[in-house]
Amino acid sequence: MTVPRTDELSASLSGGVLAQPSFQPFNPAFPVRPAALVSPTDIHDVVTAVSWAAKNDMPVQVMATGHGLHGPVDGGVLITTEQLGGVTIDPDRRTATIGAGVRWAQVIEAAAPYGLAPVNGSSSGVGAVGYTLGGGSGPLSRAYGFSADHVLRARLVDGKGIVHEVDDDRDRELFWALRGGKGNFGVVTELEIELMPVATLYGGAIFFPGAAAHDVLHAFATWSAALPEEVSTTSIALLRLPPLPELPEPLRGQFVVSLRYAHLGGAEAAAELLAPMRAVATPLIDAVQEIPYAAVVSIHQDPTDPIPFWDGGTGLRDLSAAPVDALLEVAGPGQDIPVPVVEVRLLGGAMARPAAIPNAVSGRDTAYALTTVGILTPDTAEIVPGLVDGIVAAVAPWRSRFDLFNLIGRATPQRVAGLWDDQDRDRLLAVKHRLDPAGLFGGGHAIT
Ligand SMILES: Cc1cc2nc3c(=O)[nH]c(=O)nc-3n(C[C@H](O)[C@H](O)[C@H](O)COP(=O)(O)OP(=O)(O)OC[C@H]3O[C@@H](n4cnc5c(N)ncnc54)[C@H](O)[C@@H]3O)c2cc1C
Repeated sequence: MTVPRTDELSASLSGGVLAQPSFQPFNPAFPVRPAALVSPTDIHDVVTAVSWAAKNDMPVQVMATGHGLHGPVDGGVLITTEQLGGVTIDPDRRTATIGAGVRWAQVIEAAAPYGLAPVNGSSSGVGAVGYTLGGGSGPLSRAYGFSADHVLRARLVDGKGIVHEVDDDRDRELFWALRGGKGNFGVVTELEIELMPVATLYGGAIFFPGAAAHDVLHAFATWSAALPEEVSTTSIALLRLPPLPELPEPLRGQFVVSLRYAHLGGAEAAAELLAPMRAVATPLIDAVQEIPYAAVVSIHQDPTDPIPFWDGGTGLRDLSAAPVDALLEVAGPGQDIPVPVVEVRLLGGAMARPAAIPNAVSGRDTAYALTTVGILTPDTAEIVPGLVDGIVAAVAPWRSRFDLFNLIGRATPQRVAGLWDDQDRDRLLAVKHRLDPAGLFGGGHAIT
């Protein structure tokens, strides 16, 4: 195929066509070689780039941070959104207006002085818009629902280069599809989201020695099943930590179990609920305490620097003893594998209920989410995908009916299509055909 010349496109853009992204994608495991790389400074640039791609029949990929990069970008138009920034807080309406390039850290920081918090994810470096379009289950979600449940308005450029302003009154069907259907319908340039009145929480992580993994995981399975929604998140993670000097000595280079916890109902009640887990084994570190919401990322302590990874995940309908044993068998003590994270997160609570304005978020029936991350180095690249897939396969008998879009890792068309029942998938496809008739958007996450 002959690649069209990009001179005409470059001349029509305020920043021209670039040679390479101005930032390193969070997942640098895959080559990024688009035919044209565009970093719009405003919505007109987005319209120009999409229209050029449509005219030349080229796919469009959108990248905010590269946290969701699951394969190479080869050819097509890559639109990076880092210059579409801006966070505006309206404290009276408790809302934030955010540009496509904004990361959660910026929204958390801007909202905190008003005693407000977004329904963000566990990592502050993830892009707020890409995360929200895929649903988004984070540290506040058992109490407040998915991030997508709190979108009030969206602006996007569709596959024909047309700008849409959508909310509950304007194109309700697109508004339904957009919140949960991820980047399938166009380039979202701006979202208006609700903020929650959360200034502090009781939260953090407890680290247990890896040798206690069996006891801690089994105790977590029983304890977590009965928690109230004030526990806005909790999860258990098997961590194989690198020997980095910045890690506290008891964790450095160790296999440990991390219990993550956040509670919104006051320190006393929070500590009382947590007490049975604190008693399961002697912690290496117990850092669960009252914290300002601005310190919310200390709960998961996700990496902030780019790291080449391969991830996988699935929803679970429950966490009885059998799936715990299945996980310990493939990823517990004694397994020397380049898979630093195997996390099981409790969902439910407000996530199990429909949003106030209905949306297409998948996985509301899911009780727990398994996420696992392997590191891709020249030495491990051959084995890591198989190890990650093997960990996900180990819990297959307990899978929930629908997975969470954000947490499926590298997707196949079947996996994406299986996120919804036939009726919702048909609704999503009808919107996609209307907005993106040439199928420019979605990449590996395209709904087919
Ligand atoms: C360390 C880490 C922690 C995570 N924690 C959580 C978590 O707690 N909860 C959770 O639900 N998920 C979590 N995720 C998954 C994350 O939400 C998804 O990978 C999400 O897609 C990342 O969005 P991004 O914009 O930062 O990434 P990118 O790789 O830049 O984008 C990913 C995709 O999002 C879409 N997209 C991004 N911006 C736009 C836009 N403006 N318009 C249209 N489409 C767009 C595109 O389809 C793009 O391919 C985590 C991922 C990582 C790596």
